[in-house]
Amino acid sequence: MSDGPSLTVPSARLGRWEPIGDRTWRALAEPETVTVGLVAGTGGALVIDTGSTPAQGEEIRRTAEALAGVPVVAVALTHAHYDHVGGLAAFRDLPIVAHEHLGGHLADQQLLADLAPYGVGAGELPEPTATFGVARAVDLGDRVVELLSVGHAHTDHDVIAVVADAKIVFAGDIIEPAGPQIGADADPETWPGALDHLIGLMLRPGWRAYPGHGEPMEMADITLQRGWIASILGEVTNLVSDGIAYEEAATRGDWPFPWERIAPGVRRAYDVLAARGFAPRAQLPIIRKDIRED
Ligand SMILES: [Zn+2]
Repeated sequence: MSDGPSLTVPSARLGRWEPIGDRTWRALAEPETVTVGLVAGTGGALVIDTGSTPAQGEEIRRTAEALAGVPVVAVALTHAHYDHVGGLAAFRDLPIVAHEHLGGHLADQQLLADLAPYGVGAGELPEPTATFGVARAVDLGDRVVELLSVGHAHTDHDVIAVVADAKIVFAGDIIEPAGPQIGADADPETWPGALDHLIGLMLRPGWRAYPGHGEPMEMADITLQRGWIASILGEVTNLVSDGIAYEEAATRGDWPFPWERIAPGVRRAYDVLAARGFAPRAQLPIIRKDIRED
């Protein structure tokens, strides 16, 4: 072995498949440490999310079939961010299970910008073919995986994959160990309610939740994250009451997560309140100072 440059592309490395339950595995795919799920039954296997690149998608499918010993018969998507759908082309001949709103996001500017470095252009991601609004089951022979819509949280089409007989939930990015990514397409107002679907499942003994990135999260961490997300709209309400505009929110607000993870979500919270006629109004500096420092 030489110490020279590696022939592989470390940034798109697919981690090893780890068994996490009965014929259920997860792998972490770089560069975003994104969770890829695999559930096998007697009638075939389901892959949950596809990694970041077309090559990674092909590797996921090939290694998943070798491990499961049955063909992959469907792929399910938790949402349409690049690190979850970038490998989708490798599954274009299979049913693609997703929320009915996902297809409308495959031409989003941000998604195309994120995929451009990997040579994926507009129109190259196949459209979902098995869509649903509330819930859909994928039959794998002797078991099913249920896909559930949780409402508008991280995106307007978040889906969780429930493997009930293994007591495992693949939760996508509605939870993240590093704190939620509250982007411009998130809704900080309805996100806490979306997490209640997951919390309801996790209240039962022995259940585990695998977030869209990184290691599984405990019930306590999920409920804490729910509370923190709920606090963002409240904090923006306080700031607006104090006459503080978005431009000052980073330094004047009390935020539970790093600003760069939540700034677009805070912007959106301002917009939500402004649409209801609740916007910052200029106040005398001395009044604002008294309110903030008492
Ligand atoms: Zn995401």
